Parts: sequence; C-alpha cells; structure tokens
Amino acid sequence: PYVIGADCIDTMDRSCIEECPVDCIYEGDRKLYINPRECIDCGACEPVCPVSAISQDRRVPADQVEFVADNARFFTDP
Ligand code: SF4
Repeated sequence: PYVIGADCIDTMDRSCIEECPVDCIYEGDRKLYINPRECIDCGACEPVCPVSAISQDRRVPADQVEFVADNARFFTDP
C-alpha cells in the first residue's frame, strides 16, 4: 500500500482524498492516513500531494519508515 509520511502533519491538503478511487484515505487530527487493507496500490495519490508526503511502502524514505506502522495503527487502535 501507499503511506503518508511526516510532511502531511499540519498540512492535510486533502488533494489525495479527491484522487483515491477507493476512498481509503482518512483524516486524523493532524495528518491523513491511508488504510493499508483498502489501498489498491494505484499510485494516483502520490503525484497530487503538494508536499510529496505520499510514497509506496516499499519506497518509503529511511527517515519515514515509522509511518508505515503509524498508518496501519491508525486503523487498528480503538
Ligand atoms: Fe488510494 Fe490509490 Fe493512493 Fe492507494 S495508491 S491511497 S488506492 S489513490
């Protein structure tokens, strides 16, 4: 799945939400999150993010790896 990283924090532009064909991008308090169980890996969200916060989980920059688990956790914690 694709993952939203640190650059989304307090940005939340939401352009990606418009692009996602399966509506799997959700709003948190300070950033947006992609549900890894719903993302179909289409890549449509990545180029529209104005702060380049989105990347495929296999290509997440080293300093953003924590956000892979963070995105998954957002959809599992009560
Ligand atoms: Fe949605 Fe496609 Fe982005 Fe996954 S890769 S979050 S399905 S737009």
